[in-house]
Amino acid sequence: KAVVHRISSGQVILDLSSAVKELVENSLDAGATSIEISLKEYGEEHFKVIDNGCGISPSNFQALALKHHTSKIADFSDLHTLTTFGFRGEALSSLCALGKLTVETRTKNEFVGTHLTFDHSGLVTNERKTARQVGTTVTVEKLFSTLPVRSKEFSRNIRREYGKLVSLLNAYAIIARGIRLLCTNSTSRSSKTVVLKTQGSSSIKDNIITVFGLNTFQCLEPLSLCISEGCTIEGFLSKPGCGSGRNLGDRQYFYVNGRPVDMPKVSKLVNELYRLSNAKQYPIAILNFIIPTTSYDVNVTPDKRKMFFSDEDSLLRSLRAAIEKIYSPHQC
Ligand code: ADP
Ligand code: MG
Repeated sequence: KAVVHRISSGQVILDLSSAVKELVENSLDAGATSIEISLKEYGEEHFKVIDNGCGISPSNFQALALKHHTSKIADFSDLHTLTTFGFRGEALSSLCALGKLTVETRTKNEFVGTHLTFDHSGLVTNERKTARQVGTTVTVEKLFSTLPVRSKEFSRNIRREYGKLVSLLNAYAIIARGIRLLCTNSTSRSSKTVVLKTQGSSSIKDNIITVFGLNTFQCLEPLSLCISEGCTIEGFLSKPGCGSGRNLGDRQYFYVNGRPVDMPKVSKLVNELYRLSNAKQYPIAILNFIIPTTSYDVNVTPDKRKMFFSDEDSLLRSLRAAIEKIYSPHQC
């Protein structure tokens, strides 16, 4: 049973960035306005997410890391109107199965915090009092140490995994309004370095300037497209002639109602239209699809990065028309 749990956990937590993503989303769900991600050896030794959210109440401690324990979904019909990032109750239980999990937390109703350690099956192995502010810190040490093959791969590819993580954190830094994000890394060779730091500004524009710099921002064209009742696409695209020669995917961010998602079809479309006028160039694209929660399903893959849209074709058609307007030669 433990082995099956480990294997299925490896499908929820695919890599470093999906692990950190789950923790950051838990912090966002907890209403945090400040989230710090602290890495040791690029996340290979450990990663920690520290927030000032609502904290976890003691009545949830024992079941916290058990499979399908969630405080966010009361009944199946909730799935269609979901506004929280989490809902499966699988992240903490999966992280437990794959590494060593500790949680430190305090709600406003407690005077003192609690430090909890868990075993690989998700059971609490130790509980003690600790001083801390209201909020939660989740630490995962030695991710994938329980899956030897994955663990080797993880170490071998750590720099690439780290790059992917930074790109993911940029995605949140751009879309999260009023939330301060800080990411640091420390290694045995160098002390703590700041990887990302945002001020928690209230506009996406300011966030983009923080992440990419003012020069890059000035190369972007805002886009706001009303598709139908309750359906809009908002964001920014490179102006014609402002793209870059490399498509590392690290400057294209797509969201559905503020949730970062993979949208390969949208990416392909944007690249294709841009390259009609700028061969060998790729645009920056930041697009948030604001659509009714009933028109898509985030429950397609365990890591919630893929979505199923009930009317993807018309979405793509409208987007194509809007982008063609921006990139058509008459505009230049
Ligand atoms: P889910 O997010 O799908 O509910 P998780 O396994 O990610 O499942 O988390 C389990 C539960 O632990 C959450 O429902 C929430 O009650 C609690 N939790 C986890 N992280 C935090 C956090 N940073 N702040 C407050 N509560 C948290
Ligand atoms: Mg979660």
